[in-house]
Amino acid sequence: MSGPTTPSLDFDPATLTLPRSQFIGGQLVDAGEEVLPVLRPCDGGPLGDLREADEGLVHRAVDDARQAWLASGWGTCPPRERARVLRRWADLIDRDAVALGQLEAVASTRPVGEAVPGDVPFTAEAIRFFAELADKSGGDVAATRRDSLGLVMAEPYGVIGAIAPWNFPLSMASWKCGPALAAGNAVVLKPSELTPYSTLRLAQLAIEAGVPPGIFNVVNGRGHVTGAALVRHPGIGKISFTGSTRTGGQIMSETGRHGTRPVTLELGGKSPQLVFADIADLDHVARCIARGFTANAGQACVAGSRLIVHRSLAEPLCEAIVAQVRRLRPGPTWASCSAYAPIISQSQAQRIDQLVRAAVDAGASVLTGGGFFDDAPCFYQPTVLDDVTPDLAVLREEVFGPVLTVQRFDEEEEGLLLADHATYGLAAGVYTRDIGQALRAARRIEAGTIWINRYGRSGDMIIPTGGYKGSGIGKDLGRQAFEAALRYKSVLIDFEAAA
Ligand code: NAD
Repeated sequence: MSGPTTPSLDFDPATLTLPRSQFIGGQLVDAGEEVLPVLRPCDGGPLGDLREADEGLVHRAVDDARQAWLASGWGTCPPRERARVLRRWADLIDRDAVALGQLEAVASTRPVGEAVPGDVPFTAEAIRFFAELADKSGGDVAATRRDSLGLVMAEPYGVIGAIAPWNFPLSMASWKCGPALAAGNAVVLKPSELTPYSTLRLAQLAIEAGVPPGIFNVVNGRGHVTGAALVRHPGIGKISFTGSTRTGGQIMSETGRHGTRPVTLELGGKSPQLVFADIADLDHVARCIARGFTANAGQACVAGSRLIVHRSLAEPLCEAIVAQVRRLRPGPTWASCSAYAPIISQSQAQRIDQLVRAAVDAGASVLTGGGFFDDAPCFYQPTVLDDVTPDLAVLREEVFGPVLTVQRFDEEEEGLLLADHATYGLAAGVYTRDIGQALRAARRIEAGTIWINRYGRSGDMIIPTGGYKGSGIGKDLGRQAFEAALRYKSVLIDFEAAA
């Protein structure tokens, strides 16, 4: 007897209806003069046209959001009411998981077989997590003297401007909007111009769930046009940005030039995976490392792109990693059997290839990969480079592709020195059976997240993510992200003076 069959997630990209182009005041608005082509990453074919939100439209979105925020009472209603609405939103996301996942898969690098069972429920879970925090906003009361009382009131900013990258569009939107909305803010979100669609659908579902129109808005367009206009708008109380370290720096200086405003910056990384000689299970470690640099074809901020391995293990571990990653095959993001991601754009693919070629020209040896798949030019082969020297760009810069460099060490101290990166400090993996060694490494490595004997997140919303050094300021997820969506006002009450 056969069990129930799971419906296939495969779809024909030509049959999807794409929402256009902005979401302002609770509805889709197809406005904007400039029209941008949107391409399918996995074959470079045309997907749709996007009208770009210019400065005027961005200003309209922010002004409307401010009006809606004042008029709707979203920031002043009992937090449990906001929590109820956000939970309903999460339920609607689950209800529409297949449609949302397919929209994600067609425009981004996320294969539908990962987007529907992975990215979409993670998005719903992030929103549920922040809904639970809505009424735990950490105000305080203190008797400052016998005749006076101090109150610390946690208040929303008003309108938060959020800017997201292309690599996990739905999750990134929920990490930005979840805490902001739960804390009682309105949001104007700018997704990446490369992946504009799934976030528009997310906004439609928010309104269906009961988020008042105008409280969650989406403006689409390029960074230097739409993003810059959002950053410049004086009505924005705070900027929450995820993207490259370069753009993060531009946003910092821009917010400084238009009056100081708080920013949260989730930026790039160049994360090490540090393997000591005493690991218990070489195959397990090889699997973690392989997944750590090939998930989403390395287009993940936390990609574990630098293997730093004890000399005694280097050869067998590299062999095991190479065997793992050679199994990864390209396939369209709309086929449920595809598990390996394409590169988001031609320019990004060229950049990866140039970094690899420059390393090879300078003497690096290729253990596997080193170019595009012959039969799928939008996919880059998982690439392992040995014999790399510290001056190489492939070792210094974030590649944002499926490239792993190999460095060897003999003494613990040497390994720790190699693990710390001059610029970045987003994450690190440490593999060892010795708890003392693991904790010494966790203490010493300057990074916002340390994974021990594993690599990568697994839906742990309570654990914040965010970088040290050039990898950012502040955190996404965790209680910390919710608290950062609030500002704190001190109110001092003098009893005697009032008598
Ligand atoms: P990017 O910096 O090019 O763009 C990010 C967003 O900023 C996009 O929406 C873009 O349109 C916008 N933008 C660009 N210039 C702007 C400007 N001058 N003003 C305002 N907005 C502007 O990054 P990307 O290529 O989309 O994403 C990849 C980067 O994101 C990588 O560096 C990756 O490490 C990082 N990232 C970090 C995290 C994290 O949590 N730390 C998560 C995901 C991605």
